[in-house]
Amino acid sequence: MKPRIHLPVVPEFGPEPEPDDPLELLRGGRFARAFALMLGVLGLVWMIAHEVHAESPGAELELVEKVHTAVRGTPPMPPVEDITPDRPDPDSEPSAAPPMPPIEDITPERTTDDGVTVDRFGQKRTASGALILEDGEAELGLPQATITALDQGGFFDPSAFDDAEKVKTKAYVHLMPGLPNEVVYVGLGLILLLSFVLFERYGKRKDPRGTGGGGTREQRPYWRFELTRFTWLGRAMKSRWFQPAVQLPVVIGFLAVIVAGLIGSQEPGRNIAPVLTWNIWWIGLIFVVMFAGNLWCFMCPWTAIPDWIMRRSLVAVRKIKTLGLSYPRFRLWMWPAIVLFAFVTWLELAYDAANRPWLTSMFAIFMVALAWLCLVLFDRKAMCRYVCFVGRVSGQYATMGMLELRRRDNAVCRSCTTSDCVHGREGVGYACPTSEYMGAMNDNQYCTLCTECVKSCPHDNIALNVRSSGADLLHPHRAKIDEAYMAILVFIVSAFHGASMIPAWKQAETQLRGWLVDSDLLGTGSLFSGSDGGVLTFTLMMLACIVGPGVCYWGLCVGMRLASGRRDVSVRKLFIRFAYTLLPIALFYHLAHNATHVFWEWSKLRRLISDPLGWGTDYFGTAHAPLTSLWTPETIWYLQVALIVVGHAYGIFVAQREAFRVYDGDRKASFRVHLVMILGMIAMSLLSLWLLAQPMYMRTADI
Ligand code: SF4
Ligand code: SF4
Ligand code: SF4
Repeated sequence: MKPRIHLPVVPEFGPEPEPDDPLELLRGGRFARAFALMLGVLGLVWMIAHEVHAESPGAELELVEKVHTAVRGTPPMPPVEDITPDRPDPDSEPSAAPPMPPIEDITPERTTDDGVTVDRFGQKRTASGALILEDGEAELGLPQATITALDQGGFFDPSAFDDAEKVKTKAYVHLMPGLPNEVVYVGLGLILLLSFVLFERYGKRKDPRGTGGGGTREQRPYWRFELTRFTWLGRAMKSRWFQPAVQLPVVIGFLAVIVAGLIGSQEPGRNIAPVLTWNIWWIGLIFVVMFAGNLWCFMCPWTAIPDWIMRRSLVAVRKIKTLGLSYPRFRLWMWPAIVLFAFVTWLELAYDAANRPWLTSMFAIFMVALAWLCLVLFDRKAMCRYVCFVGRVSGQYATMGMLELRRRDNAVCRSCTTSDCVHGREGVGYACPTSEYMGAMNDNQYCTLCTECVKSCPHDNIALNVRSSGADLLHPHRAKIDEAYMAILVFIVSAFHGASMIPAWKQAETQLRGWLVDSDLLGTGSLFSGSDGGVLTFTLMMLACIVGPGVCYWGLCVGMRLASGRRDVSVRKLFIRFAYTLLPIALFYHLAHNATHVFWEWSKLRRLISDPLGWGTDYFGTAHAPLTSLWTPETIWYLQVALIVVGHAYGIFVAQREAFRVYDGDRKASFRVHLVMILGMIAMSLLSLWLLAQPMYMRTADI
């Protein structure tokens, strides 16, 4: 008889499930088959019923208002039915009908002649939904200097220009289209299908925990390729010029951005500083981390500037005069970075830092000042280990990065008596700025790639490797409560960032503010109706968005504990250990969200390199280039869905390993916990898809 052939997507192999296995149905493959079939039929019916179409605005799309209107226009206001009863003819006999009661004005928004909608708090939007940042009020008359010049010339009568109008250009934040329906449905189907297929497939593995924490190739078997086998690279990394050679141009560019933000035009969209900072650096950082780990830290100007000034050299190994205090050893080391991360997010979104050049410059100066203060107060670089939110966010994502510095041979480290990698070597290399001991370092989180350990190690035992992604998460790793809080915050803030940029958020903000004003809770109505009412309302919503998902995640951990049937593993332990498994979903959503900004908004940079200060220059002839997207909208949409699906599968894979590690190979408990976590991950990925399906405001304004 011919052997039975199984489809590769739902393979059946391995031993027969044990009779008491509660998940027999799931792992047998029937569940996934039935589920896939049902989902496919439902999806087809739904799509045909809705007759969905991808809207293709075309490759030559210009990001101007009319296109946004075409792609995702706000539907026009429905016509207002005139239900006023016929008025009596004034010449006719007076009737006995009672007079009409006064009509109450309950219109929440009013629309001006040019289609601009103004809400009750004065926020203006165009007919296509674009936010109007500046009103563009006309100024009458000429500036005094011009009047004086005209007067001296004696040819024109300056008073003849008194009614001349100078119309300020309006600044818009336009909307970018979200994913069309059929792309969302495909993503949704893939997420659901993959969830159960992966659950079945990897549920069959005997023990997927990954191996011990040793660090050699045998003990942590993941793919890696040693770059330092190229002798020129090994020699270059030992040179004291290796890092400054890269940092120096970055520092020069960084100072130029600060100056541009301070002296250039303060009109949103006319200054290169916010675009370079928020559209290129902050967004590009996440793409860089994905491939090259903490590469930004290697070139970071924030610590380089105080370092070089205090050492009075770019390369010499010199001690600097500091108070040398030990950083306070409280349990939640990372809290300063967590608080700073939340604060900067609030500053960026509530105060619209991406559209305020001077605020962007002040933020850059603040980071240098903070690094300097930490350098003066504390031993080593407390800034990098505990305070810098950028380092900590990129550090967490870098656990999935594809670049690492690691010891070559464990045995050499074990027999090493000096541990110069962590303590530094006189005249050769500094102590590790984040106190990492290369002999035991198994993840990228705190390594800033400064290469000081490479220079200091007397045994040439440190290698630079490219590796498969996620090696740090898939193998045993440290798990600490502050790192867990940071991972959760990274996940929440990445989703919150997306949510706060969609029109539904703005509407909810206006409604909540209106309700707070009207209900005057504890006499706070006047606070919310004042000029800072918008920021206050945003802050309340932001707090709710941070606390709410945090509580939901805690509830998920309670559910996992109940499902596991194991009382010896606490909710706290699950809370900490599974927080790391959220990182893949957070990273890939972050990439998908950023893809929209990068590929739609890149052309603002093309304009601004010709007129970086908004002074009317045109150095490269591109100052008036059209605002176009880099890729077609369809390509961007497919990329986004692919990223969400990959992040989801990645998260499931990592969670499965983590479950087996937490329950020390107890298959029944780890399967049950994994299933609950998968349900949570499905909810997170669907939320990501929903957010991407919404039209989204651009990060920086254009004019
Ligand atoms: S941790 Fe922060 S301050 Fe330190 S190198 Fe990285 S980005 Fe710069
Ligand atoms: S100095 Fe070199 S050999 Fe010694 S512990 Fe550090 S990495 Fe290992
Ligand atoms: S000294 Fe080595 S381990 Fe420490 S941060 Fe620098 S590169 Fe990383």
